[in-house]
Amino acid sequence: MELADKQAKHFSTDMCPFDKGNEFMTPNEVARIGEETWRCRVVPNLYHALSIDTEPAAFKESCFEKQSGFGAHEVIIETDEHALHMTNFEHRHFLDYLELIRMRIDNLQQDSRIKYFSLFKNSGLNAGATLEHAHSQLMAMPFIPPKIASDLSYYQEYKKQHGRDLFDDYIHEEKLHKKGILFENSSFIALCPYASRFAFEVMIVAKEPIASILACEDTHIYALAEVMELVFTKLRLSLGEDFAFNMVIKNGDLRDPKNPNRFHIEILPRLYKIAGFELESGVYINTMLPETVVEVLKEV
Ligand SMILES: [Zn+2]
Repeated sequence: MELADKQAKHFSTDMCPFDKGNEFMTPNEVARIGEETWRCRVVPNLYHALSIDTEPAAFKESCFEKQSGFGAHEVIIETDEHALHMTNFEHRHFLDYLELIRMRIDNLQQDSRIKYFSLFKNSGLNAGATLEHAHSQLMAMPFIPPKIASDLSYYQEYKKQHGRDLFDDYIHEEKLHKKGILFENSSFIALCPYASRFAFEVMIVAKEPIASILACEDTHIYALAEVMELVFTKLRLSLGEDFAFNMVIKNGDLRDPKNPNRFHIEILPRLYKIAGFELESGVYINTMLPETVVEVLKEV
């Protein structure tokens, strides 16, 4: 079968493993929101890249290093409604989603062998999704990936040099610049970041020094759900309800009591494919200025 056929088959609604009534098609549930009947739930990924049953081990051979596939790879089934995209979620859906993530990370972090949580969403073929039903993924890993470690040490170094948090300075500069701010409430601010990598890229940042979702109070979760609803409504009205996007939820290093991260979410629409230049250089060509995107999103 051609890849395109396989993908089309995955995208059909026949026997979707994430639908209510098809729970037998997934591994046993590890968390849910909703009592008698679930509204969103977490299951181990049937096609997992990491397994909690594998022993953690690292090997070194000359200049090569490898690790066993220890960890957890879970799927967050965001809704029981097959055709409900995150772009159409209401405030209560985001509340459930965020609460479920917080619950799951809190549980997994009790395993001291896990050092990092990669939390992301692929939506649409161009963003790497193979199932249409709204879902995110959580990879609990036995090490901090080098790119993340480098970002975190940059945040730490900035604070040491300037005596201020990088994210506070960044929000301050964006506010001075004015053109990138989309919306803010008591706890979070949504902006189209300076030097965005992707057209219609949006970042949602905690305004207070909150390092991760585990440091969020219920009032923060409530405020974040409000910002997410607004951002996705604006994006849906501009790009359509099923535009492809990735979303990453950045919690930093949960093992570090001085975690230098600022809790933030990046929404990365995948309207164009990234290609050789981006892969070679790490430099992204984006023809849509963030200030133009803010104007477009504010008008819809
Ligand atoms: Zn479904």
